[in-house]
Amino acid sequence: MRRDDAPVRDGRRPARPGHARVLTAMMIVLLAVYTGGLLLGDQETFDPLLDGWLCILTELSAVALCISAAVRTRFAQRQVLLAAGAVIAYAAGDAYYAASLHGEVALSYASWADVGYFAFYPFMLGAVAVVVVRKLKDLIWPLMLDSIVGALAAASLMALVLAPVLRIGSSGGTTFEAVIAVAYPLLDLLLITAVGGVLASRGLDIGPRWPLLVSGLIVFSAADVAYALGMQEYAVGSVIDAGWVAGIAAIAAWTDGAASTGRGSRHRSRGIPELAAPLVSTASALAVLVIGCQLRIPLLAVVFAASTLALAAVPLAFRNRMLVTLARTDELTGLPNRRALLTDVPERLGTGQPGALFLLDLDRFKHVNDALGHDVGDALLVQVGRRFRRQLRPQDMLARLGGDEFAVFLQGVTEQDAVATARRLGAALSDPVQVGTAALQAGASIGIALTPQQGTDMSLLMRKADIAMFRAKSARTGHHVYDATDDDDGELRLRTVQELRIALAEDQFEMHYQPKVRLGDREVTGVEALVRWNHPTRGQLPPTAFLSLAEEAGLMPALSSLVLRRAVRRVARWRAAGLDISVAVNMSGSCILPGLPHEILALLEQFDVPPSCLMLEITEDVLMSTPTGTADILAAVRAAGIQIAIDDFGTGYSSLAYLRDLPVDELKLDRSFIIAMGDDDRAHGLVGSIIDLAHSLGLRVVAEGVDDERTAEELRARGCDFGQGFHLAVPLPAREVGPWLGGHTVGAGRG
Ligand code: C2E
Ligand code: CA
Ligand code: CA
Repeated sequence: MRRDDAPVRDGRRPARPGHARVLTAMMIVLLAVYTGGLLLGDQETFDPLLDGWLCILTELSAVALCISAAVRTRFAQRQVLLAAGAVIAYAAGDAYYAASLHGEVALSYASWADVGYFAFYPFMLGAVAVVVVRKLKDLIWPLMLDSIVGALAAASLMALVLAPVLRIGSSGGTTFEAVIAVAYPLLDLLLITAVGGVLASRGLDIGPRWPLLVSGLIVFSAADVAYALGMQEYAVGSVIDAGWVAGIAAIAAWTDGAASTGRGSRHRSRGIPELAAPLVSTASALAVLVIGCQLRIPLLAVVFAASTLALAAVPLAFRNRMLVTLARTDELTGLPNRRALLTDVPERLGTGQPGALFLLDLDRFKHVNDALGHDVGDALLVQVGRRFRRQLRPQDMLARLGGDEFAVFLQGVTEQDAVATARRLGAALSDPVQVGTAALQAGASIGIALTPQQGTDMSLLMRKADIAMFRAKSARTGHHVYDATDDDDGELRLRTVQELRIALAEDQFEMHYQPKVRLGDREVTGVEALVRWNHPTRGQLPPTAFLSLAEEAGLMPALSSLVLRRAVRRVARWRAAGLDISVAVNMSGSCILPGLPHEILALLEQFDVPPSCLMLEITEDVLMSTPTGTADILAAVRAAGIQIAIDDFGTGYSSLAYLRDLPVDELKLDRSFIIAMGDDDRAHGLVGSIIDLAHSLGLRVVAEGVDDERTAEELRARGCDFGQGFHLAVPLPAREVGPWLGGHTVGAGRG
């Protein structure tokens, strides 16, 4: 019982599914068998099963793992896509190689397979570059320089190691194959240093499994070096092959990890000191030069080492500037962050010029995040940021404050200019934002505070813009210019909204369930879930005390998700205890979103509850008036077997004539009719005809607010199917429902 009150986790990113684990395990086993086979087996002869098929199968499982990662991120994470491309290109090259052998021990010429092998590099470099571009945008140069310095140092070392091969080259006996063979280790090094450069920069991250990536690349390039050095003797089936396959497998496992965690920023790479990359580079370049003084080494090695030293000083100079910029930059969007706004705007306010401060809050963003995952949410924020930026002048400041909040400061503008800009910003979101396969309709509420009229102090302006923003949200006007009258109830509302946010995060809500009773035989077939807020200081609050505020603040979808989850979980427990009842959940119009059918079906599946045990209660104006799309969403929900009830029937503006066209199973007659029945013959007649009409349309009728036995009796005589009300049963805390039902008959049928 207690566990029902445990905090409900909001739907984070989709977790790493079971099949990713199975694929990983399969890949590891195949790799182990393959490597073992190579080590123990006969290296001279080609064994089609071991050297051919096992190798290809291991690589195929790596490919499958990458594809599953790409699907899991809905093809929205470029890093995963590029890494998957790299693994696929390499595996394709290998498959071609194996297929072209025709009994040879190795191909003695460069082949089409090399196209696949080479394509691996741009893809992988792209996968690493995406992190950099995504996080830093303008700060890419110092990082590139780090990587170049590292690459040069590595290249000079490599020129030393590969001296024998290079010498063949310079002595005229060079072959196209030798050039290609030497190119691979060099490309590997470029890749390793790029990764090293990323790891070495504070604030950048390439995913939680970066050690796998680094070690994979090292093993991979060791294989390349070994191949280049012993090219003439190489035959398929040597241990070198295992090095390549292991490298590919490690990269696939890294890709899988990057997809499972979404943003790398939550997993800062630790342990690599910031200056490690340039220091190691400089040290190794010096070492090469020292060796060069004692021994004859290739000229190339000397040239690379000298350039390393020359360039190494440059990134150090950049580094300071980069750190300063980083501290002021929002990682995700590359826009200035809150800190930048709070330091720059006061300077501009000091000039006394007129201006406007906007606070922008995206509508329904939390829902996107919860329903589609953080990657989709992140991508949406990036694109929205870009669209905003395009509407502004170069001198205007656009910052991301965190979450789905942005701020704009316009200098030298009148109120009209400011409003015009707000309109443009709103209009910039009118086209859906495409993220991967999803088209998302974004919207923003903009609060505007003007300076100097409304203040010249930054924190005052922020507060006023915030209040104006809530006004814009509740009035659904898109934008609102702060007005002194906004302040009156603004303060209290603002505080309550903050408290509601905390309540959602800490789950201070509790569900009560009110039985619906069949009037004919007093059987109970279902309950309605009603939410309560256990406020830390104000005690238990009824829904009427906070729902409209939650609605204004855009918190309803989150609250509804929480209620839905609890209701479904609860019904699963009751069913497990042998009580065959259904649960009805109230849904406001703002919660009927495209992700709803999926959310509900996933819940039902998770708790193994049949769809017929869930009902959504929707008021008639939501059913009728809402934006197009709502009807489709409800139709989809209903097609899946979930029931729909019209709530508070008779209070909205729909007429009985519409009933036929609405996709509903049940009609809940509003309490006001039932109360009126007591002493009003017309009300009596009206209730009777509504019941008859509903029945003729195949709808069940539930009377709300059945307060006494006389009403219950009259309704039963009129043919009303069900009743709900304090006389029949009050809303009960979850743990009291079981015992209460124990004293009543629980119906098997829901009809
Ligand atoms: P509703 O959907 O019409 O729910 C029935 C309300 O009538 C409940 O009030 C219930 O306690 C009350 N009620 C039941 N029997 C009687 C009776 O015999 N006499 C009288 N006078 N009242 C009776 P509650 O729990 O305060 O809920 C108020 C409204 O808040 C609900 O009206 C519903 O519209 C909304 N609500 C409650 N929980 C949720 C929720 O989880 N999500 C959403 N979107 N709305 C909810
Ligand atoms: Ca209801
Ligand atoms: Ca109702």
